Amino acid sequence: MDKYEVIGKIGKGSFGEVSKIIRKSDRKELVWKEINYGGMSEKEKSQLVAEVNILRELRHPNIVRYYDRIVDKKNAKIYIVMEFCAGGDLGSLIKKKQKSRENFNEDTIWKIIMQLCLALMSCHQREKGKIIHRDIKPGNIFLDENFNVKLGDFGLSRIMNEDSIYAYTHVGTPYYMSPEQFSDGKYNEKSDIWSTGCLLFEICALTPPFHARTQAELALKVKEGLKERIPKQYSSDLQLLVNAMMTVDYNRRPSIEEILRNPFISLRIKENQ
Ligand code: ADP
Ligand code: MG
Repeated sequence: MDKYEVIGKIGKGSFGEVSKIIRKSDRKELVWKEINYGGMSEKEKSQLVAEVNILRELRHPNIVRYYDRIVDKKNAKIYIVMEFCAGGDLGSLIKKKQKSRENFNEDTIWKIIMQLCLALMSCHQREKGKIIHRDIKPGNIFLDENFNVKLGDFGLSRIMNEDSIYAYTHVGTPYYMSPEQFSDGKYNEKSDIWSTGCLLFEICALTPPFHARTQAELALKVKEGLKERIPKQYSSDLQLLVNAMMTVDYNRRPSIEEILRNPFISLRIKENQ
């Protein structure tokens, strides 16, 4: 822990505080996320270790980079040292836009979605077993100082091996929860595509695609599918992508490979190389 200097608190996460730190050796700005494991069962603890191990292996320019972990046994805390994303999270940015009644321009939206798709590709196509994020939402998408997108918070993802294409879940952000999760609690990598579609809708409309007062009401609406259009200043190409990602039947919903073949996305990938 004495390798780092704490600069100050950035925010409060569900398991503890997030702080900005500096690595003394080279003065690099980083953050650490404190996780209090004191109240966890043995099973939860081993799950936590497994999750931190996933983080370590994920190296992609559009995924929040993991650097180190520090275990503080005395206080039952783990500190996860990660890349500092100076632009904060997309959730805060959407709120700011909402307040100022200002929309994202379409080019920015394509850039965000293209980078997010690259991040998902590296998870869903991972050689050592695919990783499903399971909690794609504005608060888990970070931005660096150059407005590059970084997918973060893999806290809820699990390594899926060959014989468990499906897994049961009781977690998930209700607003972005997929029809298949509502129907039978099952999810697969296509559920990440659904939530990315919801996210794309929200970036355009500055409000989520479905509104409901209860989870049951939300489930009904989600299973009926998207009825609304994104604001009319956006192209029909963008609308078509939202519709494809939000296909109710996950068998007909495109995979990440198929989405990356969308000419509007593949063109941007080429331009960025
Ligand atoms: P959790 O999801 O565990 O509840 P969050 O990831 O939402 O916690 O983190 C809490 C706060 O810290 C948020 O305001 C978020 O924007 C900020 N934050 C988290 N990770 C980073 C990071 N790598 N760089 C900059 N800010 C971060
Ligand atoms: Mg989070």
